[in-house]
Amino acid sequence: MHISTLRWEEFYGLLAQQSNRLIDPSTGKVLEQWVHTIACPICGSADYTLRVFRSGFQYVTCNRCALVYINPQLTQEAITTVYNDEAVRKFFFEQLLLPFVERDQQPEFHARARELRSMVSTSQPRLLDIGSAAGNFLLIAQQHGFIGEGLELNELYLDFINKNRKLTVYNKLLEDMKYPNATFDVVTLWDVLEHLPQPCQTVAEISRILRPQGLIALTTINHRCFNEKILKERWRYYTPPDHLCSFTPGVLKNLLNQCGFTNVTIRHHYMFEVLAEHYFRFALPPSERDSVNLFIKKAKKILYLLLTRGSEAIMNTLRSGDLLTVYARKD
Ligand SMILES: [Zn+2]
Repeated sequence: MHISTLRWEEFYGLLAQQSNRLIDPSTGKVLEQWVHTIACPICGSADYTLRVFRSGFQYVTCNRCALVYINPQLTQEAITTVYNDEAVRKFFFEQLLLPFVERDQQPEFHARARELRSMVSTSQPRLLDIGSAAGNFLLIAQQHGFIGEGLELNELYLDFINKNRKLTVYNKLLEDMKYPNATFDVVTLWDVLEHLPQPCQTVAEISRILRPQGLIALTTINHRCFNEKILKERWRYYTPPDHLCSFTPGVLKNLLNQCGFTNVTIRHHYMFEVLAEHYFRFALPPSERDSVNLFIKKAKKILYLLLTRGSEAIMNTLRSGDLLTVYARKD
C-alpha cells in the first residue's frame, strides 16, 4: 500500500475518534445537547426528507431546492469545545497536506490558473482565494500573472505561510474583510463551498466584491451522481460533520444566477476509485510494495488509467460526476 494511503486511513481513523466523542452510544446519534435543527441554508425551507444516516449524523434533501445538508447541525459550542482537535489538524497538515496533497494538486492548479488567466483581459488581474490552506494555489496563480491574496482561518496554515511563503493571507471571514465593491477580477473557492454554513451569503458577497465581468471559480461535491446512487451512505463525500452540504448542477446554477452570475459553466469529474474501493479493488493500481511482477504492475497501471479517463469522459457526458468545477461571470 502507498504511504499516502496509509496516512489517509490513519487520518480518517482520527476523524472518527474525534466525532465519536459527540455520539450517544445507546442511540448511535449525536447527543442532542450538541446539535440544533436548521432550515435549508439555500432556500430557507424547513421541508425536507431524510436522505442518509452516517456516523451519527443525518443528511437531508431539501424538498424545495434539492440541496442536501446535515440536519440537525452541530452548535458552535460543540465545534469549539469538542470537535476541534489540534492534534487531528496537525496530523493532516504535516502528514498529508504538505508532503502529498500539495504535490498532487500541482498539475490541476496550474491548469486552472492558466485557464482563468486566459479568461481575464486586465493586465494585472487581482485574485482572491477563499480557503487558501497553506497557499499552494496562490503561489501558482502568481506564477500565472495574478496579484493574489487569500483568506484562511486555520492558524497552523497561516503560521506556516508567514514563516515560509511570501503571500498575503488574512485570518478572517470574507464578510469581515469589508472589501469595497468591485475589488477583484477573480475569486476562487477550491473545495470550500461544502464546508460553509451559509453558502448563499458567501456567494452574494463574492458577487459584490467582483468587478463587472469578473469570475467566480469553484470546485465542490455533487450528490446527483452515479457513485452516490450506487453507494448511498457509503459515498466518500458524506463526511459529517465536515461536509455540511452537497450540491447539484441545478442548485449551483440557481444560486449563482440569483447572485448576479451568468454564463455558468459546469464540468463533471467522476471518481472511478470511489466505486472501485467498494466493488473492484482488483482494478486499483498496485503500489510499489505489491509483490507482483513488473509487467503486471505496468499493465494494471495502464488499465487503471484507461478506466479513470474513460469513465470520467462518460460521466461528464452523462453529467453525473462526484465533483464539479464551476466557472461563472458576473453580469
Ligand atoms: Zn432548499
